[in-house]
Amino acid sequence: MSLPFHRLADIGPVYGQRVLVRVDFNVPIDPATGEISDDSRIQGSLPTLDKLLAQGARVIAMSHRGRPKGPGPENSLAPVVAYLRAHRPYPVYFAGEARSEEAARAVSSLQPGELLVLENLRFDPGESANDPELAKRLASFADLYVNDAFGTSHRQHASIVGVPQYLPAFAGELMAEELDHLDQVLARPARPYWAIIGGAKVSDKVKLLSRLLELVDGIIIGGGMANTFLAAQGHFMGASLVEEPVMPVARALLAQARERGIAMVLPTDVLVAREFRADAPYRVAPATDIHAGEMALDIGPATIDAIIEALEPAQTVLWNGPMGVFEFDAFAQGTIKVAQALAALNVSVVVGGGDSVAAVGKAGVKDRMTHISTGGGATLRYLEGEELPGIRALRQRVVG
Ligand code: ADP
Ligand code: MG
Repeated sequence: MSLPFHRLADIGPVYGQRVLVRVDFNVPIDPATGEISDDSRIQGSLPTLDKLLAQGARVIAMSHRGRPKGPGPENSLAPVVAYLRAHRPYPVYFAGEARSEEAARAVSSLQPGELLVLENLRFDPGESANDPELAKRLASFADLYVNDAFGTSHRQHASIVGVPQYLPAFAGELMAEELDHLDQVLARPARPYWAIIGGAKVSDKVKLLSRLLELVDGIIIGGGMANTFLAAQGHFMGASLVEEPVMPVARALLAQARERGIAMVLPTDVLVAREFRADAPYRVAPATDIHAGEMALDIGPATIDAIIEALEPAQTVLWNGPMGVFEFDAFAQGTIKVAQALAALNVSVVVGGGDSVAAVGKAGVKDRMTHISTGGGATLRYLEGEELPGIRALRQRVVG
């Protein structure tokens, strides 16, 4: 994290240069209509692509889509190409896979200000295997490399870690924005700094929790993982999701918070149901009065109030993990109310994690957050303090 990375602004004049950009075009496509059902990842890649093309670069965009076992129309990038042709003013070409003759021909005839999209990188097993031959082939297409796919940068794939061994490497606009916001909450947060951590399991997030306990002034624990903490404190949790093997770890984290004088907010009341169903009947139960057969599926109203009160003085909030089973409307209120409270406060909020981002969308306050991380698993690894292989490749590359 210490070394700076090279940004697009440092790339110098790019007119006529071939620039290979690793983007994230991994968009969902409705199998019935063939339409892109959420274009936000394409939109996210446009600042970088548009900037390079406006300066007259010859841009080659590469991405994966899905987890294909081999080539096939279901995972083709053709719909993305159609989308770009419909929405962008510049010419957009589509070539085959990186190792095809067609791709090589398309690269050599590409003109300044034109975009070429290569077919799904993962059609070639060399991508996930980080095959150096594939990396060299890709690098041979270009003079410069830009990584704008933060969400894939925790993977040792050819397009992420292989190519930058052979070309000067730069962080794209989306990548730089991600790193700036995440580095801000990791290294220079305005205080008081609070974390809200939820989601299903403690075991997924032990590393994150213990790292955050070194950084934050206060921490709120909600969602399914709170059950394990409550059980560790001796509460009876009925049929709630509790990870018994992780209870000693939860106890150690509670002790760590106490020793460091970090405020910790756990649910004092929860919504309990007897079935894991959207329309299951439920009641509000004190955390001290959960009956056999009942499971905690959301935080209760007193807990929501306590969370909102705790967050009042915060200047920075990092949020990962929903407060309840937000996919079911009946158990989404905890997550939605917390999201809306954050939107109303004058506070810098960074949201990370696939389900958390979806939950903030469901609460209708996505635009009011300071930063919504696009990274999913990559964001979590980064927040845990892991150096992502794709970022290391950018930070270490010294451009002469
Ligand atoms: P993120 O993707 O943001 O990192 P997680 O994947 O860790 O979040 O957690 C999200 C999942 O946690 C959701 O599917 C949600 O239904 C589940 N969850 C939240 N609260 C509970 C609970 N009380 N019991 C069971 N599952 C829960
Ligand atoms: Mg998730």
